[in-house]
Parts: sequence; C-alpha cells; structure tokens
Amino acid sequence: MSRPRVIAIDPFDCGCTECITGEYVPLRYATDSQIAALIRRDLRNHTGKEFDVTVRYIVTDTQPLRGSTPEEIVVTCGDRTWTFEPYLLSGSLP
Ligand SMILES: [Zn+2]
Repeated sequence: MSRPRVIAIDPFDCGCTECITGEYVPLRYATDSQIAALIRRDLRNHTGKEFDVTVRYIVTDTQPLRGSTPEEIVVTCGDRTWTFEPYLLSGSLP
C-alpha cells in the first residue's frame, strides 16, 4: 500500500491516525519543502502555531536591495528552524 499524499502539517509531536498513515505530518518531522508548501498555503496548517518567516538578501555595491533575489528563507516555529532556497516558494516574494 503506498502512502497517501501529505495534505496537512499537524502539531509538533502529533501521533494521530493520519500522521501514522502519512496524510498529515507532525511539525517535528516536517521537511523544508513541506514547510515551504505550508507557507504557500498548499498544505493545511493544523499546528495552531505562528510561523516566523525571514527572507535574507545579500546586498553589495553592485547588487542593491531593489531588484535583488532573496538568498534564503528561514522559517522558525518554536525551537525548530527550517532554512531553504527561495525557489521552494516559487520565487515570487515581495
Ligand atoms: Zn496528527
């Protein structure tokens, strides 16, 4: 039997039936791309938590902030942090 597609992120240590069958993922085990999908709202957020999203840019004399592309995205929730490349958010950021 293949595992179902993940549709939601559940609370940190959740062990409900859906987390066991793979329909949901406990926050503790969420991958970078699953967190990116949650930020994009392509996965449901069952955690009841806020996510702190930091977009990091590198600015130089020849590369001003305006028009530059983010270097990385850092998402923090409680003690857990995910760091990933902006393309996981489809590249379109403010
Ligand atoms: Zn669960």
